[in-house]
Amino acid sequence: MADKLTRTLPEIGPDTAFFWTAGASGRLEFLQCRDCDHYIHPPVPLCPDCGSHSVTPQPVSGFGHVVSYTVNHHKWREDFPVPYVIAVVEMEEQCGLRLTSNIVGCSPDAVVMDMQVRVVFEKYGELYIPLFSPTLT
Ligand SMILES: [Zn+2]
Repeated sequence: MADKLTRTLPEIGPDTAFFWTAGASGRLEFLQCRDCDHYIHPPVPLCPDCGSHSVTPQPVSGFGHVVSYTVNHHKWREDFPVPYVIAVVEMEEQCGLRLTSNIVGCSPDAVVMDMQVRVVFEKYGELYIPLFSPTLT
């Protein structure tokens, strides 16, 4: 849990509030189509797979793997320590269900392609920022 602000926080709207607050229950949620089960990210009120408007937030396992990453060494903010990893994580529920986030809980040098990770949350007030940490295997 964060003690002070070190991140630029997202603006929350009616279509995205579920995503940024779901961590209160310890779960990561994405919109899912009720007609074809396709997960949707970023959140939009229409299933891009079948065109249905019946989409609702649903929890996922929180497990995925790294499909791309970079190690940032530039100090964009004085209060945000470097280096840190920016990664694209693909969730195990669906090919292409991807989230850009940070890998935490290990040295940036330890991150590799296809690394298995699970979601962890960093809390800022009512917001829970989803980050990823290596799974213990
Ligand atoms: Zn659909």
